[in-house]
Amino acid sequence: MPSERSTKQGDHPREDSLLVALRGIGWLVFASVLLTLLNFSSSAVVGVNVVLGLIIGHRTYSSFLAQQLRLDDFRRKHLEEIQEWQERWQRLHRETQDTTSALVRMRDGVIMLGENDQILLMNPAAKRLLGISESLNMVDRSFREMVRQPELSRAIKAAYSGDGSQKLKLEIQHDNHVRPLKIRVDHFGSLSNNHLLITVRDETESHQVEAMRREFVANISHELKTPLAAIKGYAETVELAINDDPEAASHFMKQIQSQCLRLERLIEDMMQLARAQAGPSRMNFSNISLEEPINESLKSLSHLASAKNIELHFTALDQPAIVRGDPEAILTIANNLISNAVRYTPEKGSIKISCRDAGNKWALAVEDTGIGIGMKDQKRIFERFYRVDKRSDSPDGGTGIGLSIVKNLVSTLDGEVRVSSLPGKGSKFEVLLPKA
Ligand code: ADP
Repeated sequence: MPSERSTKQGDHPREDSLLVALRGIGWLVFASVLLTLLNFSSSAVVGVNVVLGLIIGHRTYSSFLAQQLRLDDFRRKHLEEIQEWQERWQRLHRETQDTTSALVRMRDGVIMLGENDQILLMNPAAKRLLGISESLNMVDRSFREMVRQPELSRAIKAAYSGDGSQKLKLEIQHDNHVRPLKIRVDHFGSLSNNHLLITVRDETESHQVEAMRREFVANISHELKTPLAAIKGYAETVELAINDDPEAASHFMKQIQSQCLRLERLIEDMMQLARAQAGPSRMNFSNISLEEPINESLKSLSHLASAKNIELHFTALDQPAIVRGDPEAILTIANNLISNAVRYTPEKGSIKISCRDAGNKWALAVEDTGIGIGMKDQKRIFERFYRVDKRSDSPDGGTGIGLSIVKNLVSTLDGEVRVSSLPGKGSKFEVLLPKA
């Protein structure tokens, strides 16, 4: 410690220089007395006194300055030390604050247990996941008494007895809601410190993803199975009929062909859906006029419409409707909406395509005089594989993926899609896309 030595040397600089002065005065008096006794003239005594006085004054002043410097040095060192301690304290305070706010904000629950099951720390997520009121102070309470879960209590006991990390899955019921939890109990700290760290993770989301994955696999298997079963049946019939009834064989070959086309369409739609779900990273954003994809789509679908005697109207706006988006995605949206309108509009109907200014967005509307969609189905038509008419797994029927592609693309483009419809009267689909 540098401070101890500095204190002894430099604590009383005035006293040190006073000593030097007193000692000097002593010498001065001694010299005066000696010179007087030796009968020196009074002017010589005065002369010697003046010289000695100057020397003493100089020495006293030098000693005072040296002491003052030592004192300044000592003060500076002390200040530096104080500053260093202040910085250390501030750093520690900041670190504690960061750790606390991380623990408070964490989505996972964290619990620290001391000896004998005593709660040292429990973050808000742990309380929420375990169904404990957030206002309840849990510190110092017994964990196993507060959370009565036999499986968890067994895991804690095993971890305390040194059986290593314990992993378990629990379902906790709270507020009429069953929450699946993944829990891990680890021993932490030194061996003499029998402390445990419990982490709790909410598995609801991953259970939902898993359920969605299972549903998707079931849906896709069903969608593929139907045309494949038809192809198998037709192929067997062709085999039987090929010699006796070549006309029937050729009819069934055509059925096989159309089922193959349906399979091809299904796979193509699924690949398009996967691309639509890939998000903005797969998009090439640019400023594009809505007229371009609409005209392109009308060109490719006009023959389908004229085959059903359906009129297609598109009235462009006076000013160009420029949106910010991916041209290919917007063309896919227009194609899906216009082709649906053509497919679900009976012969001699009409389809109106229009654009309108909707504040910070441009709206593209496709309105038909088709079969319409009931209120109940309007809520579900954007779901993957959802078809209003379930019989339409016929070869010409839709795949139920088109509107799901539209919904995904529109949300990636930061837009929205709406539907309004009256069964038997027609439907109107409107897509709103951000202005450039
Ligand atoms: P699909 O390939 O079956 O047309 P979509 O996802 O495009 O798949 O549409 C889902 C369902 O919504 C369709 O099966 C159909 O029942 C209904 N639908 C879509 N567009 C229209 C429309 N313009 N008029 C009536 N019904 C429609």
